Amino acid sequence: MDSSEAIPVREPDKLKFNLNTGCIIYTGILNNSGYGPHVRVYQHFVGLVPLGYELDHICRRRACINFNHLEVVTPLVNCHRGKGYKCTPEWWERVKILYASIY
Ligand SMILES: [Zn+2]
Repeated sequence: MDSSEAIPVREPDKLKFNLNTGCIIYTGILNNSGYGPHVRVYQHFVGLVPLGYELDHICRRRACINFNHLEVVTPLVNCHRGKGYKCTPEWWERVKILYASIY
């Protein structure tokens, strides 16, 4: 569990809606990578994120918690699409978890 999952999401004063993009920006405390509680929101409204997979912000705004702007992808896809998303040793560890999950 990352630190963002401990943040309550039912704080209307911490949500900003962008009429142009449809993004729902969480303005509360973000984790070290700039993410809000998007995983919990997605899992509440859409469904579980399978082991080894992650959520890609298709709007490219890390603080966005609009579940329509989130897509379940593999770390490989996320790395391929991401601007500034680094395929780091941590990324490689997540890829290994993905591949281990098929056995
Ligand atoms: Zn968005």
